[in-house]
Amino acid sequence: MKDVVVIGGGASGLVAAIFAAKGGKHVTILERNNTCGKKILVTGNGRCNYWNSDMNISYYLSNDLDVLEKIITGDNKKCILDFFDILGIVPNIKNGYYYPFSNQATSVKNALLIEANLLGVEIITDFKVTEIVKNENFIINPSKERIQAKNVILSTGSKAASYTGSDGIGYVLAKSLNHSVIKPLPSLVQLKGNEKYFKKWAGVRSLVNVSLYEDGKKIKEEYGEIQLTDYGISGVCVFNISGYVATGLSQGKNECVVIDFMPWLDDDLNKWLKKQGSKVKGRTVSELLEGFLNYKLVKVILEKSNICLSMLFDNLNEKQIENLSNNLKHFNLNIVGTNSFDKAQICSGGVPLKEINPETMESLKISGLYFTGEILDVAGACGGYNLGFAWISGMLAGKGVSND
Ligand SMILES: Cc1cc2nc3c(=O)[nH]c(=O)nc-3n(C[C@H](O)[C@H](O)[C@H](O)COP(=O)(O)OP(=O)(O)OC[C@H]3O[C@@H](n4cnc5c(N)ncnc54)[C@H](O)[C@@H]3O)c2cc1C
Repeated sequence: MKDVVVIGGGASGLVAAIFAAKGGKHVTILERNNTCGKKILVTGNGRCNYWNSDMNISYYLSNDLDVLEKIITGDNKKCILDFFDILGIVPNIKNGYYYPFSNQATSVKNALLIEANLLGVEIITDFKVTEIVKNENFIINPSKERIQAKNVILSTGSKAASYTGSDGIGYVLAKSLNHSVIKPLPSLVQLKGNEKYFKKWAGVRSLVNVSLYEDGKKIKEEYGEIQLTDYGISGVCVFNISGYVATGLSQGKNECVVIDFMPWLDDDLNKWLKKQGSKVKGRTVSELLEGFLNYKLVKVILEKSNICLSMLFDNLNEKQIENLSNNLKHFNLNIVGTNSFDKAQICSGGVPLKEINPETMESLKISGLYFTGEILDVAGACGGYNLGFAWISGMLAGKGVSND
């Protein structure tokens, strides 16, 4: 009989195991991959953006933000920063984003594995859990390996980026243990449209403001670098609105992204264009726009504004200037979908927070069962918020199971 079994040796599972072991428990991790922490290695483009100095719940989507507020507390944030300090991870903080100073995600993964080993955590790899039965205790994979445990911490992740091990089976296991699961949707993911001009703008990057309109009402705005692709749009500012888009589309709502390609200009654009035109006399509209926009994007904007590339700026009429201004500051793009779960960094949806105790992450339905990380209905923005939640929830579960 095992004391504590952690299912999934990812970010949150490793931290849960470490804190449970620190609390005096004998802990076993069951990990389906041949090594733990595979997803940690791909985070932050291999650099692992593991935390944010502004770890505030306004950066999260969840159906139970009131419960989340009890998890992401000042004390818990301090404990995690102390924990990383004790692990020996020296942060390199850029605009509030924490990376290990080595700039290598391996530093974080290795530090966690070393700590787990030092604390005597047993790690069994190449072990996929497919069934959990709860009688007096938990029986894991009853018809195969048949491991018995007093406590189980479910840390299997979501169904985003299944190449790292998380294929959504955690939701099946949670349901089999009497929990509900809010439909998981891809989040922090690229957005797709249906426009012919996508081929023309593919490869362009530009600093923009993006606003998301749902059924005609503005619900979110983000600033940052957009990547224009042959299927639609990508980039951190797009990722940060993608969770809202996925939810809205699943409810049959109309999702429209409005792009401001000149976020640096607050003045009246018509006036600014005319002034600019008078400075650069004798140029085509395209030549004028290429002073501040990529030429591929200029072509698309002019096509959308029904203006010929070779037209002299001086010859534009008021209507054409109006159209041009609109497409520069309010470029409308209808969104028809998101990229797949495999392209997504995380999932929205999952096990509702209202089904767990926020102090210990223990199930309110089955005692001895704990949840950590992305299997829960918590979706953070880009910037270290998802790993931040993984660490905090892992720590709470590890401490919680130690006090049972
Ligand atoms: C490309 C990419 C970049 C990202 N970058 C960042 C970033 O910079 N900052 C940030 O905060 N977040 C980032 N994230 C999100 C972050 O990695 C996740 O939110 C976090 O890893 C979730 O931790 P977890 O422990 O819940 O799940 P995971 O880390 O996914 O771990 C789950 C583990 O469970 C194992 N497992 C699953 N099912 C079973 C089973 N049945 N039996 C046994 N084992 C099982 C899996 O193999 C895996 O090891 C990124 C994600 C991706 C995909």
